[in-house]
Amino acid sequence: MDRGSFIQHSVMLMGSLVFTRGPAQSHNTIPGVLGPVSLSSLGVTLIHEHTMVDFIGASETGVHRYHADAVVETVLPYLIALKKAGCATFVDCTPAYIGRDVTILKRLAQASGLNIITNTGYYGAAKEKYLPAHAYTETAEQLATRWVGEFRKGIDGTGIYPGFIKTGVDAGPLTPVCEKLLEAAALAHLQTGLTISAHTGNGEAALQELTILQKAGVSPDAFRWVHAQNEKDKQLHLQAARMGAWIEFDGINGSDPTGLQQHVDFVVSMKEHNLLNKVLISHDAGWYHVGEPDGGTFRSYTALFETFIPALKREGFTDRDIRQLLVDNPRKSLIIRVREL
Ligand SMILES: [Zn+2]
Repeated sequence: MDRGSFIQHSVMLMGSLVFTRGPAQSHNTIPGVLGPVSLSSLGVTLIHEHTMVDFIGASETGVHRYHADAVVETVLPYLIALKKAGCATFVDCTPAYIGRDVTILKRLAQASGLNIITNTGYYGAAKEKYLPAHAYTETAEQLATRWVGEFRKGIDGTGIYPGFIKTGVDAGPLTPVCEKLLEAAALAHLQTGLTISAHTGNGEAALQELTILQKAGVSPDAFRWVHAQNEKDKQLHLQAARMGAWIEFDGINGSDPTGLQQHVDFVVSMKEHNLLNKVLISHDAGWYHVGEPDGGTFRSYTALFETFIPALKREGFTDRDIRQLLVDNPRKSLIIRVREL
């Protein structure tokens, strides 16, 4: 059988486990690092940010590389400023093996008052530097079982559950291991309903990712095309959105006027084609850089509120449009529900 039907067959074999959830989770909640968050209290949501990243590589990263107190002390003021700007939910997109530390996220959520959502999954971009060795030796089914296990049993015994799947691929064509990551993400989605954020190098890669998901029977609605601004051809944004994918323009940076204007242009283009209901916006900002003095240079999380939203309003965006971008779309995209083709 071909790969697609093999995956579907595997899902059927695992059928007895399908739809099982971890404790204290219901259909109307998303797991936050402090426990389930009701969909109605997600509010203004930044769909793609980071509190901490460790670029050393999968084989060397670990808790020995940083002091949790120093990370909390550095990051907390930025999260408090974000809460003051009106944000309620912060989606932390740092995956395992590149600096995910859910106990730090828990402390930051407690101290800031923000809902913080973490992830499961592996990141194959940056030439696979952040992949553990077992990503090469295990099958897609085995990798999916690890991620589903985090959703059902919690992450590393912390009692903290992931709220989505994070993966990553470079520009297309995808490498074999990155194809496998997407297959694993599809399997994990079908077993949990967790949605998929995929760091994606370009439009070619995005379309390839969507093909893999569809072959596995997963609707593009389960997929967030992370860093869609890396693809300059607006037609590809439109194409993926019409298929049902979420198009995430997430490089909003207050000190980069050219990039900011490009984000405005991309979002305007989506609105002109009646696809604003598939758009997500965020900064991809932060973060405490493990291994750099005092955590290196930190980029704050408020340019979106201070600069970007006013720019959209100058383009004629209504309060309703803004609410769609900041509240409705993130909530809809995160809802934990199996989206079969
Ligand atoms: Zn990111």
